[in-house]
Amino acid sequence: MNRGPKKSPENGDLFAPRTDASIARDAPVRVDPDEDEDEDEDDLQHDETPPLPRRPLPRETELSFGEPVREFEYNGGIHLTDSILWCDADRRTDLSFISHAHNDFIGKNRRILATDKTVRIITRASGKVEALTSPYRRSFTLGPLTMEMHPAGHVLGSAQLLITRNDKRLVYTSDINPRQTATAERAKPIPCDTLVIPATYGLPIYRFPPREEVHQQIRAFVERCLEDKATPVLIANQIGTSQELMRLLGEAGFRLRVHRSIYDVAKVYRELGVSLPGSRRFAGTPARDEVVIFPPILRKHASIRKLRKSQTALVSGNAADQGYVFRHRVDAAFVLSDTADYEDLITFIIETGASEVYLSSGFIDELSADLRARGVRVYSLVKPEQLSLF
Ligand SMILES: [Zn+2]
Repeated sequence: MNRGPKKSPENGDLFAPRTDASIARDAPVRVDPDEDEDEDEDDLQHDETPPLPRRPLPRETELSFGEPVREFEYNGGIHLTDSILWCDADRRTDLSFISHAHNDFIGKNRRILATDKTVRIITRASGKVEALTSPYRRSFTLGPLTMEMHPAGHVLGSAQLLITRNDKRLVYTSDINPRQTATAERAKPIPCDTLVIPATYGLPIYRFPPREEVHQQIRAFVERCLEDKATPVLIANQIGTSQELMRLLGEAGFRLRVHRSIYDVAKVYRELGVSLPGSRRFAGTPARDEVVIFPPILRKHASIRKLRKSQTALVSGNAADQGYVFRHRVDAAFVLSDTADYEDLITFIIETGASEVYLSSGFIDELSADLRARGVRVYSLVKPEQLSLF
């Protein structure tokens, strides 16, 4: 059976295996050569996670032969046909909607369309981009297109884009999260005719427990470590999950030391009104009562390895995959994600009422079968070069 590209579940999860598609979407840890910290800068350059072998994908035509004209196509990124609009483009375009701050191809586009929060996060280091911004739920027009951005619940500023064209309602979104997190407004399904969405955790093994339950587990882990005089090291996405942990643990009174890449994002979160108390930038050796948060790409960094005694925990939706946890050799793993699990994803898609759904990445084949069984017409929307493997 064919599978979709096994891109990292959790867009922007640098811990996950990466394909070209996920690299295009994930913001790498920024490296500032002027920073002078007690770190081995070479380590910053490498994600040691090997990519999984690519699997062949179904040809688009197989899924769509004889169907009506498409609203979306893959053309150097996801393109709204017969328009100037791309969505999360991974090559330079005149205008691309950028759904959220994990996308680092922003600067290559002439102009971007995004929420002001997304723009603030992605320009935190460079500061320059020509952006069209709009708050959530405010309608605007671009030629024949009427558009509106709505919360996607994934990371701060993340948005779904509702496009109305010829009385047809089209929604493009990247990862969504319909559960409330500590830092982002949750996603609600937008009634539409056509939906583009990734199948990121589109397998039944990805079943996430209630967040409050996981929060308690994480707090208990941290307390246990500190009682044992070990430094708790939490490994979490640089944008999104890290800030949720900072809020959770900071508000519980723990003192945090976070890697500068996480700290820099948190600084913008704070400026945008998110409370993240009790945290400082990681430097040197943490004190006995401090909790460390590092991004996945740096989980084996020298400054972590040289801690006298530590316990490392992965915090990610990937923690639902026992094999994944085993391969990454952590002391503990907590299933906390900023992306919908399998059930939430299916429910979300069905609740939009869309009669046609384009799956843009992830477990496309598996989710397609489940959606078709519910009467939904499903297309795959992936890079053409991946089709040549077939
Ligand atoms: Zn993402």
